[in-house]
Amino acid sequence: MPAAQTALVIGGGIAGPVEATALTMAGIDVEVYEARTSDPSSASGIGGSLALEPNGLAALRIVGADDAIRAAAIPITRSVMSIASKPGREMPTPRGLPPRQLIDRGALHRILRDLAERAGVRIHHAKKLIRVDEQHDGVTAHFADGTSASADVLIGADGVHSAVRRLIDPDAPGAKYLGLLGFEGTVDDATDTAALEPGTMTFAFGRRAYYLYWKRPDGRIGWGANLPSPQQLTLKEARAVAPGDWLHTLRTAYANDVPGARLAAETTADTLQAVGGLHIMPPVPHWHRGRMVLVGDAVHAPSNSTGQGASLAMESAIELARCLRDMPDAASAFAAYERLRRPRVEKIAARGARISHAKAPGPIAQKMMRLMLPVMLATMNIDKTMAAEQSYVIDWDERFLAPSNL
Ligand SMILES: Cc1cc2nc3c(=O)[nH]c(=O)nc-3n(C[C@H](O)[C@H](O)[C@H](O)COP(=O)(O)OP(=O)(O)OC[C@H]3O[C@@H](n4cnc5c(N)ncnc54)[C@H](O)[C@@H]3O)c2cc1C
Repeated sequence: MPAAQTALVIGGGIAGPVEATALTMAGIDVEVYEARTSDPSSASGIGGSLALEPNGLAALRIVGADDAIRAAAIPITRSVMSIASKPGREMPTPRGLPPRQLIDRGALHRILRDLAERAGVRIHHAKKLIRVDEQHDGVTAHFADGTSASADVLIGADGVHSAVRRLIDPDAPGAKYLGLLGFEGTVDDATDTAALEPGTMTFAFGRRAYYLYWKRPDGRIGWGANLPSPQQLTLKEARAVAPGDWLHTLRTAYANDVPGARLAAETTADTLQAVGGLHIMPPVPHWHRGRMVLVGDAVHAPSNSTGQGASLAMESAIELARCLRDMPDAASAFAAYERLRRPRVEKIAARGARISHAKAPGPIAQKMMRLMLPVMLATMNIDKTMAAEQSYVIDWDERFLAPSNL
């Protein structure tokens, strides 16, 4: 018998629907409560693209979503790094692994939401969690609209600014702003991008700001900007600024970059999407308390430089469901889950912290990067460093017999 019969999942982003689907597979009855008033799977409100690594796809295979994701995504088969508009150098990728997949965030949400609903999960919108009451045999969530819901356990999949994290531990750290705002746009192809092959992603360190670009299946060029900004803005606040004002700022930031200057110049207000501030989560001391536990960005948001945020969120969601399936009670399931996940996610977060500060290097640092890059590429053992990270697969069919198995 699973450690819980019923579960409330708070947050219907990425970890939430995957968690709910996996819990259903584990025989647990689950409902998802999402704060957004509009359907989060609709294109409006969720912008930009997201890359899923092979380990994220492997996690999605367990819940049966990998084929749908691949059908909606672009496979990224080559990565190139360019510094100060110099010709890009190809980055090595681990051998024997499938390509990462670049997918529209709205499409990803839609697929995961549909998957959960097909599995029998009930998803409620406009349900912002504000408070939790704990009883000896269950937990009750209270929402901003005055309603409430009860279950055996409550899972906080409520993102980097998690309310559940603070309910578990009022002294829990908050998300750390990286000093960068995210944007995405599309432009027509032109001579400076004509040689780009579909499936190639270029990571470009511009004179003043970092950006990345790729050729889309429709032949246009997609690009994402990481704009340095001391002012931290939420998604809502970033979208409250007129797109024309953002375009002016982006055109100044990328004015000296090729092809960055053209990408910014030709992006129009109707194709520009602000995606808000970029954050990481410092290590969270308490992943669970009583009948509450955290999953996804709420407990481990690495820098977006790792490309692992969503993939790790999905892995953790599935591992938590497996622990609840196999352990005798919530306390031992949550402890097993933390023991299995904490070392992996903290190692990847530490790698991200080392690379994310390089996103806005000064001219001297850029020169050093240009000099060091060939040496770095020649000496790095990509199979050793990245393969372990990206080839990780959860053995869903393997059952724990006892906590000593961990
Ligand atoms: C610009 C940008 C680019 C990124 N690129 C990548 C990438 O290429 N690859 C990658 O792997 N990751 C990327 N990430 C990170 C990735 O988006 C996250 O790791 C991922 O979304 C985490 O999923 P999650 O479900 O834990 O959180 P979220 O996706 O944030 O979902 C949390 C959900 O909880 C809801 N919620 C919040 N509070 C409450 C409440 N009180 N009550 C009820 N519901 C609530 C929210 O509305 C939201 O729907 C990127 C992030 C950003 C910002």
